[in-house]
Amino acid sequence: MSTIAENIAKVRARIREAEQAYGRAPGSVELLAVSKTKPAADIREAHACGLADFGENYLQEALAKQAELADLALTWHFIGPIQSNKTRPIAEHFHWVHSVDRLKIAQRLSEQRPASLPPLNILLQVNVSGEDSKSGCAPDELPALAQAVAQLPHLKLRGLMAIPEPTEDVAAQHAAFARLRELMLALNLGLDALSIGMSHDLEAAVAEGATWVRIGTALFGARDYGVSH
Ligand SMILES: *Cc1c(COP(=O)(O)O)cnc(C)c1O
Repeated sequence: MSTIAENIAKVRARIREAEQAYGRAPGSVELLAVSKTKPAADIREAHACGLADFGENYLQEALAKQAELADLALTWHFIGPIQSNKTRPIAEHFHWVHSVDRLKIAQRLSEQRPASLPPLNILLQVNVSGEDSKSGCAPDELPALAQAVAQLPHLKLRGLMAIPEPTEDVAAQHAAFARLRELMLALNLGLDALSIGMSHDLEAAVAEGATWVRIGTALFGARDYGVSH
């Protein structure tokens, strides 16, 4: 077995074990393979192992890989920070966006979503750790943002996403994810998607209700950012 195939088997086993350990329905947690900085060949290999959902952070890089992989039926998720002058290609070339944190971006994505495509699935990114440097809307801004985004015609608001401050403290991992779950529940908008958990904290995320875990390193190995970003 190739390294990627082995890694996929290991990550799937971690998800399955966590679902079991925390009383989650089998198959209720979906694996989003985060392929940023990795070549199209890695995605092709992961697809051959049964993965179909891929997450990318950098628009130009993502568009190049999408073109190379146009022969595959893949579902593309944009998970990086969004500049307002980049919304059109995101609206045109992705199925999900996990990183919407302000209304202006959502409005542009809705306006620019081609009428020939189904509504763009949207997750609102929330800053649950309160660090100044992180993207994500503040928890107290979330209700108004969610209400407004839910009205936009060419978007489908699905849920929330967070990237808590990295920590090895498992109780802190749980607390941050639980906070996001509670924020989603309090919105009372019938949202069903919680995008939480990365390579180092996927178990805590599954325990706290993840429906998507976004896994890069554990699938594709460490990233080399080189000169391009
Ligand atoms: C890079 C990235 C990931 C994957 O992180 P790993 O620690 O490599 O699993 C997940 N989510 C977002 C938003 C990312 O930018």
